[in-house]
Amino acid sequence: MRLILLGPPGAGKGTQAQRLVQTHGIVQLSTGDMLRAAIAADTPIGRQAKDIMARGGLVSDEVVVGIISERMDKPDARNGFVLDGFPRTVAQAEALERLLAEKNLDLDGVIELRVDEGALLSRIERRITEMTARGEKVRADDNPEALKARLDAYRAQTAPLIDHYARKGMLKTIDGMAPIDDVTAAIDAALGRQNPCRRGEKAARGG
Ligand code: AMP
Repeated sequence: MRLILLGPPGAGKGTQAQRLVQTHGIVQLSTGDMLRAAIAADTPIGRQAKDIMARGGLVSDEVVVGIISERMDKPDARNGFVLDGFPRTVAQAEALERLLAEKNLDLDGVIELRVDEGALLSRIERRITEMTARGEKVRADDNPEALKARLDAYRAQTAPLIDHYARKGMLKTIDGMAPIDDVTAAIDAALGRQNPCRRGEKAARGG
């Protein structure tokens, strides 16, 4: 199974992606996690991304498309993946379509976690409190200024993907304000009911 999880920062994409990993035996491909790992390892990509990420801006399409393409080729991704935080721009979505075609892979669907923007700040504040309580390092971009920039980037550059995938008939919108288990159940139900959108089928329909 190959899925995209779409939603603003704090929508619960990471939590739901981990649950999909457990239930479907797939891997979570989070460009944010990959970039944070690159920063921690002080690689050239990490050095390029560090300041942009701390400010809440978007790293270049070229960089993220490159890392996601490499990651998809690893053996553990063979059984499928859930993309978390990618694509984030229409250009990335188009690059993903080309990548999947080259790799001869299909996308099974796009899950949008729809949340009330007013709730996002308090969710992120809760995440900071919980991470601090667990003794974990808080993300450099989990602060009010960077969050505002991340939300602006989402609205301007990522939200258009909702229409992009709706037009392709691939979008499933889930109420991300529901309790975590209910969101998981709604995603499972949406996937269960869904007909995979295969390139071959689309071609047969003339799409
Ligand atoms: P996330 O962990 O998904 O919230 O991503 C954290 C940050 O990493 C974002 O605010 C961006 O700076 C960067 N980032 C992650 N994924 C992408 C992407 N697909 N395109 C551009 N920047 C990204």
